[in-house]
Amino acid sequence: MIYFDNASTTRPDIEVIKEYEVLNLTSFANPHSINSLGMKNKINIERVRNEMLKILGLNPNDYSLIFTSGATEANNLAIQGFCHRNKKRYNHIMTSTIEHNSVLNVFKHLEEEGFKVDYIKVTSDGKIDEEDLKKHLDGKPVFAAFMCVNNEIGSVNNMKKLKEILGSESILFCDLVQTIGKEKVDFGSIDMFSFTSHKIHGIKGIGCLIKRKKIMLEPLVYGGGQEDGLRSGTMDYSAICAFKKALEYSLIHFNENYNTVKEIHDYIREELLKIDGIVLHDFDGSCPYILNFSTLNKKASVIVEALSNKDIYVNSVSACYSKKETASYVIKEIGGSDIEASNTIRLSFSRNNTLDEAREFIKVFNSILESIKG
Ligand code: PLP
Repeated sequence: MIYFDNASTTRPDIEVIKEYEVLNLTSFANPHSINSLGMKNKINIERVRNEMLKILGLNPNDYSLIFTSGATEANNLAIQGFCHRNKKRYNHIMTSTIEHNSVLNVFKHLEEEGFKVDYIKVTSDGKIDEEDLKKHLDGKPVFAAFMCVNNEIGSVNNMKKLKEILGSESILFCDLVQTIGKEKVDFGSIDMFSFTSHKIHGIKGIGCLIKRKKIMLEPLVYGGGQEDGLRSGTMDYSAICAFKKALEYSLIHFNENYNTVKEIHDYIREELLKIDGIVLHDFDGSCPYILNFSTLNKKASVIVEALSNKDIYVNSVSACYSKKETASYVIKEIGGSDIEASNTIRLSFSRNNTLDEAREFIKVFNSILESIKG
């Protein structure tokens, strides 16, 4: 099998699974029980929380980490939680037109609630259009949600620059789901960020929101008051420990992994450039973990299916689109034609991929193109 769909989800690391399995069997007590088994888990959760912050280079005195079910929930908590709590001062909110749906759809919802919402345009290489951003600022602080690495095309925003434009009184939230373990992050420019375990070879069902301590949020769910009242519900100690392990592993061999993936990316990119009817959506400074292109003469969905039949797994538009949506809004926003937007293929790599797989992919891809009609 060749698995090039790592931006949708990654294969969990065996050590992460082992950690989860062992702790789930041995340390299953509810961390909020006041018996010693529960209390031990609670103490350990606080230790792991601090360790995760430190792994990222953040001081636990300045930041809080809230465990959630994944990034969709963390994004909702950051955006809805902040806007509802701070609506008087931050009634003007903004995001980009190519965010993930777990951000865009929250902004649409807040627009209906009466917030002043701006959707900032992106340039043809998928970055926030800084001139458009400046046009929408009026000297007052805003709340902004801009992702770092885009999940479809891998374009990378310069968060430091964006924060400078927004001004120090504005609050910048950043979806780092496709960034952690893949690109270096300047955390100093960001006030809150989210990421999720299953995109970094961890298990599904756990993610987190990290915020500066002084930022106040309103919860999305009310209940037993876990996670400082911001995310009620019984906490999964084993999932939390497995998440930490996945984070650790994603950063240990960062440079080595980056170089391997870049080699794979660059090889496939060069080979695709030789093929007629292929438009690459890949730009200078883009993240090599994602390689997106459109097929102008053949249907992308047919190619994806043919590759699957050969045990090669890639994706057309993002895994998070509904079945009805067949065209990529991201490709349209960067100026792609309707044909390009309806025929995208996204290859997304991980540290487990090899150059041999890349060579095999190109061989099979070329033979598929020859064998299928338009
Ligand atoms: N944000 C981005 C950029 C993503 O790529 C995804 C998943 O595809 C999410 C958020 C949602 O993450 P989760 O599956 O943990 O809810």
